[in-house]
Amino acid sequence: MSTFQAPKGTYDLIPPESAKYLAVREAIAAPLRNSGYGYIETPGFENVELFARGVGESTDIVTKEMYAFETKGGDQLALRPEGTASVLRAALEANLHKLGNLPVKLWYSGSYYRYERPQKGRYRHFSQVGAEAIGAEDPALDAELIILADQAYRSLGLRTFRILLNSLGDKECRPVYREALQNFLRGLDLDEETLRRADINPLRVLDDKRPDVQKQLTDAPLLRDYLCDACKAYHEEVRELITAAGVAFEDDPKLVRGLDYYTRTTFEFVHDGLGSQSAVGGGGRYDGLSEMIGGPALPSVGWALGVDRTVLALEAEGVELELPASTSVFAVPLGDEARRVLFTKVTELRKLGIAADFSYGSKGLKGAMKSANRSGARYTIVAGERDLAEGVVQLKDMESGDQRAVGVNEIVAELESKLG
Ligand code: ATP
Ligand code: MG
Repeated sequence: MSTFQAPKGTYDLIPPESAKYLAVREAIAAPLRNSGYGYIETPGFENVELFARGVGESTDIVTKEMYAFETKGGDQLALRPEGTASVLRAALEANLHKLGNLPVKLWYSGSYYRYERPQKGRYRHFSQVGAEAIGAEDPALDAELIILADQAYRSLGLRTFRILLNSLGDKECRPVYREALQNFLRGLDLDEETLRRADINPLRVLDDKRPDVQKQLTDAPLLRDYLCDACKAYHEEVRELITAAGVAFEDDPKLVRGLDYYTRTTFEFVHDGLGSQSAVGGGGRYDGLSEMIGGPALPSVGWALGVDRTVLALEAEGVELELPASTSVFAVPLGDEARRVLFTKVTELRKLGIAADFSYGSKGLKGAMKSANRSGARYTIVAGERDLAEGVVQLKDMESGDQRAVGVNEIVAELESKLG
């Protein structure tokens, strides 16, 4: 094994590709910032108990995928596998829900860790941007989040994603359904592990991706036939609001999602260009989560969008993001005096917000011009002793190849007017 190798299931973001990740995070965050969501950042690890209770003891995340460890001080911690439990924990700790301004709307962006079998679109370290609206039961809030995610993806230029929508019912109607489903599942020809799952968390069997299991599930009872009147009305309202916003979705009566805490509205964003890792994001309502982690009743809704898979989706669709040029002006000094003068000019340009870079090290003109080309700069300024003696620098337009002398004292203003 090479010494220079990232751990299994991880990869590095390096230029120029890394710019895409920044742009995706920014594009997902922009509609949230514009809709009353405040930025929150929580630690990369939490007490393992938070996830065990909050994500669910019977989920794959907790049973198989969590990086849990004991510290030297004896604390039981886990690298965060997802964001919602941490955000809710932080909101409760800071008493944000008591400030009389519900819902508390928060967004976050960061790294998450799951011990999974690595494959394309499935990594052990990945990044998400997420949003949570805590402490309100209002179909407009569920609709808002779905609309904002749709807007984020569209602003990136993604077109062929689909929104799958379902309702998981609430603590009144879901138990009745759960039992009906359990009875149905017991009659099927399933392996031992799946039967065990049917006992602990039968809804998740619906999510089984194996064709032979899916075939047997064709006639499974559906939650939508068991929804209580309140859940039905709530779901209908969500559907109407997103339809009125012009956001297309598909009803998916078998959509359940992997986490235990979801109630009512559940949705997933899928992209068909990604093979089996097709979910680019997902979310839903989690009215019971706060109580599950020891807090008061706080009905809430949220989503998390996967940055890695969103980048893959952009590539699958052939979308080229319009990324700002990282360098607009590149300075090439020839000689010590020129180094001092041009370094000052670069600093001045940067202060004006113009992206500028400098030829460092003692390269010759040829090597320096190569760096200028590679930087993607629109303009290069070159100066040698003779130029400075005449009080000028050479301004080269890298697109047309034109070059002309501009006064040393005029060059910054000249570039500002050209690039402004
Ligand atoms: P999957 O069914 O593909 O395992 P999930 O239901 O576990 O997804 P969530 O917990 O809902 O995923 O996370 C939200 C988003 O985060 C996913 O839609 C996906 O884009 C991304 N994501 C989740 N796990 C990974 C991973 N291991 N590697 C890369 N992205 C991931
Ligand atoms: Mg998963």
